[in-house]
Amino acid sequence: MSDIKLHKEHGLNPTVTACYFCGGEKNEIALLGAAFKEKAPMHMVINREPCDKCKAMMRAGIMIVEMKNGTSNSVDDMSSRTGNIYVLKEEAVEKMLSPGKMKDETLRLRLCFMDEETTEKIGLKEAVGTHELNEKGDVVEKEAKDNNGQQPN
Ligand SMILES: [Zn+2]
Repeated sequence: MSDIKLHKEHGLNPTVTACYFCGGEKNEIALLGAAFKEKAPMHMVINREPCDKCKAMMRAGIMIVEMKNGTSNSVDDMSSRTGNIYVLKEEAVEKMLSPGKMKDETLRLRLCFMDEETTEKIGLKEAVGTHELNEKGDVVEKEAKDNNGQQPN
């Protein structure tokens, strides 16, 4: 544990850590102290450790984080997220993406940042809607019906 250098005006300067991927709150508080020049914002992304919800989504499938058009070079800017998150089966991603670096990386990381134009083009907008998780941590697709129907497991 390192000592916190208190901020002259804001003391411990606490912030609730936010998830880099979904922007949601993690159950953590970071004490920034003087390490952050101004008053810490209410929420702040301090690392790229996914929150429990995102971890569950990445375990259950491939997580697609939707970005506003034209922001693909600024994934670190949280305001570039649309708030839509899609969780897809690995097989769906296999079919959807054409071979190449993006596909390989997506399957390896179980995660992809995609702009709205792309999610629309590959049919996510209509087909899937945003994700949902049940208590068991399984991803439940809100109004999803992919072409081969339901596959209970
Ligand atoms: Zn998250």
